[in-house]
Amino acid sequence: MIEIMPPSIVYPHQDGLYINLTNRCPVACSFCVKSAWKWSYRGHDLRLRREPPAADIIEALGDLKRHRELVFCGFGESTYRLEELKAVARAARARGIRSIRLNTIGLANLIHRRDVVPDLVGLVDAASISLNTADPDQWREIHRPLTAYAGEGFSAATEFIRSAARLLPRAVVTAVDLPGVDIPRLQALATELGASFKLRPQLRDEEARA
Ligand code: SF4
Repeated sequence: MIEIMPPSIVYPHQDGLYINLTNRCPVACSFCVKSAWKWSYRGHDLRLRREPPAADIIEALGDLKRHRELVFCGFGESTYRLEELKAVARAARARGIRSIRLNTIGLANLIHRRDVVPDLVGLVDAASISLNTADPDQWREIHRPLTAYAGEGFSAATEFIRSAARLLPRAVVTAVDLPGVDIPRLQALATELGASFKLRPQLRDEEARA
């Protein structure tokens, strides 16, 4: 008999507990693995049948003392659900989680048409922003944004990073190791915005080595 697993709204990975808030994305990154991996991430089905209410996620958190950090990161852009993100972070904080990280494409300010970083103060300890290039045209090529995010997307992401670096304990610009990207230029941009920088392997390569 085939066992049908329910979609994961929370899932453990390494020493963190990850939250899969939404499957909505303002972009279609060229390096995204969700289609190639059939919406499965290391054994967890991240294809949501519906977006879970904050109460369901909070109930699913379980014993947070077993995890070093809580991470908002699934197959989708968590900041679409800003209020739910804040409610879950607040609940996790109250239950003693040591650290909370947001992995994001950095378009929240464009999605909500305001700087949302002040909302995250006291709730999010680290923002990890997937920028991948310092070149606006290349940003569009790599991320293939929806039309509404194509024109202002790159500048909105850089402003989000600047705000996160100013207001949150930690902001990290990340880049997937892609051919043709000027990494020193991107690293310099991260520094100029006040963030640190992290280069990461393509997930497909990482999987091949696992
Ligand atoms: S933001 Fe994440 S889930 Fe969305 S397309 Fe990019 S890599 Fe995939």
